[in-house]
Amino acid sequence: MSPPETKISPLATPLTALWGVGAERAAQLARLNLRTIGDLLLHRPRRYEDRRHFCSIAQLTRDEAATTRGTIVALGLRRFRGGSKSVFEIILDDGTARLHCRWWNLPFMEKYFAMGDEVFVYGKLKETKPRTIDHPETEVIEGGEESFIHINRIAPVYPLTEGLPQRWLRGLIWRTLERFVAASRESAAHFPEWREADEKLAALSRGAATLPSRANAIHMTHFPEELTDVEIARQRLALDEFIELQIQIRLRRKKFEAQAQALPCGGDNRLIKPFLVQLGFKLTGAQTKVLREIRADMGGAHPMRRLLQGDVGSGKTAVAACAALMALESGFNVALMAPTEILAEQHFHNFEKWFEPLGVKVELQTGSKKTSNIQPRKVAEPPRGGHPTSNIQRHPHAQPSTLNPQPSTLFIGTHALLTSGFDLPKLGLVIIDEQHKFGVAQREQLVRKGRYPHLLVMTATPIPRTLGLTLYGDLDVSVIDELPAGRGRIKTFVRTADKLPKVWEFIREKLAAGRQAYVVYPRIEESGEKGVKAVTKEFENLKTSLAPFRVGLLHGRLKSREKEEVMAAFRANAVNVLLATSLIEVGVDVPNATVMLVENAEQFGLAQLHQLRGRIGRGAHESHCILISDAKTGGADERLKVLEETTDGFRIAEADLKMRGPGELLGREQSGLPEFRFGNLAEDLNLIRRARELATQLVEVSPGGKTI
Ligand code: ADP
Ligand code: MG
Repeated sequence: MSPPETKISPLATPLTALWGVGAERAAQLARLNLRTIGDLLLHRPRRYEDRRHFCSIAQLTRDEAATTRGTIVALGLRRFRGGSKSVFEIILDDGTARLHCRWWNLPFMEKYFAMGDEVFVYGKLKETKPRTIDHPETEVIEGGEESFIHINRIAPVYPLTEGLPQRWLRGLIWRTLERFVAASRESAAHFPEWREADEKLAALSRGAATLPSRANAIHMTHFPEELTDVEIARQRLALDEFIELQIQIRLRRKKFEAQAQALPCGGDNRLIKPFLVQLGFKLTGAQTKVLREIRADMGGAHPMRRLLQGDVGSGKTAVAACAALMALESGFNVALMAPTEILAEQHFHNFEKWFEPLGVKVELQTGSKKTSNIQPRKVAEPPRGGHPTSNIQRHPHAQPSTLNPQPSTLFIGTHALLTSGFDLPKLGLVIIDEQHKFGVAQREQLVRKGRYPHLLVMTATPIPRTLGLTLYGDLDVSVIDELPAGRGRIKTFVRTADKLPKVWEFIREKLAAGRQAYVVYPRIEESGEKGVKAVTKEFENLKTSLAPFRVGLLHGRLKSREKEEVMAAFRANAVNVLLATSLIEVGVDVPNATVMLVENAEQFGLAQLHQLRGRIGRGAHESHCILISDAKTGGADERLKVLEETTDGFRIAEADLKMRGPGELLGREQSGLPEFRFGNLAEDLNLIRRARELATQLVEVSPGGKTI
């Protein structure tokens, strides 16, 4: 049959056009998000059953799920507890042994089976005497024309929804493949989209056919000849997904560059020079290198779109400050956005101290707080060391700007800056101290506030390369790959909770020596989970048990003013131990704090723990991070070991991505990424690289051309 001659691709044909799909089936399929032929063909099997070689009933074990088959020799439904509970049971025989299959409280199962039926069963034994499986997956073997679809082959097992039989769906997919795909496995693909995808790939691999055609891959996904085919097909289909994404990213970037003119923000050094003198340390080589990249962008033709990655403590703030000064020198305003109020406050304190002597206004705008009309001091006190940099009029580098008779302003805020409707005038640069908390959409929303300001996104957690190339694929990347010298080392230990008394003894020693400590708990209040500690409860205990040392409490439900007060007290060492939730994970900078104790460490992600650990080791003293966990489940102890072994943020981020998946790592609102049916962000770095290479070729080679 030939496809209809319409502009709409046959892949977009609704499933109701297929034989056997009526309104009821269509509604069931829609619950699986299957609406078109294209959707159906990409419905990925959940697993496969090799029905060429199956296990005899006598070979079934308790250890591993396996497929077997047998004939029903007995069956029955038993009700008990006055009929409120039930168990339905079938007994199968295959000549080697008998197998009992039970379904608890699902009395309707009765209607699916009859004496003498032949049944496939997938599961593992719950009991061996008699052999019993509870709630196995089953499929009655039926004779007839189509039986070859289901038996004597590797059969796909699909995700289902209520009322939709496995056999029926498998039959539908088989017939759809036969009608639309089988022919095109040999000749050109039936669907123009697939042909295009094949051509793109051929262009990239320059004839080296390493992966099957799209038609073949789709066929192999549903009905592989060998189980090894499944992964080959997955790679091909994943590659297509990544290519599509990378092309979108490239085109978006290209369109952006075509329409967006950069504001001239290269600066003239008249603020940066005095700033660097008063800073009190010399920038590292890595910081300087990154600043060169930023300066080239901000003085270039297209607005900067740059991601700044650097491990915790690598000194991103100083780089951000220099970038801000470039725009300020050029007569533009700058917005700096932090993910939490605490961090916005901290930046505000720093930047006020740094910038006001330079005659730059710094304003704080958070949900709860606004400083406004901060006037730059006319004659500020000289900074430490008495260098006369503060009076910009007299500084040798400080020329009054002809561009900008009014002093420019640095606005600092949380994402409230986004939603306040607050208009940021003359915005030249937006800096997002992102730390994985801002989504792509939010990023765009913010940037639209100005007329294509430059954009610098800073992430604290090193981003696994796969995410760097997808989630942040439209940004250029700078990496600060060097920590400032003279940092105290951090030692990390994973311990069980019975060691806590010794740990506290150790912490007291450190406090007595004048150091400070963070103690982090997973919950604000107790929620009844066994063994999971809450910061408010522990605060009550530790307040007295740690006396005379003073204990502060910090969590997300405090009022902003309370948070600020406790942070100020901790910074001043008036509070010696800060009990907190993971709220403090981002950015907080108190160099005298050298101990980080995390209880119920298994409740946190690795990247998060790495962030928490980054709060210490900021001064010259040796620091200690102690992770307490009793959990053995889900590889918790193995996960935590990664932290004992390395302080390399990239390795940790990659381990975290592999162990927890991108959803966990990014947070739900974060992702802005399409859902990949076949692609795996934790594993597919090579495919993503290939996709990017291809997309670059396609988008660059044919500017506005025919390929795209
Ligand atoms: P992060 O990259 O985690 O945001 P920060 O910018 O907070 O790191 O810097 C961590 C600490 O290191 C701060 O106390 C900062 O003043 C200090 N610092 C930054 N750059 C240098 C440098 N080149 N030499 C010495 N200390 C530095
Ligand atoms: Mg920071």
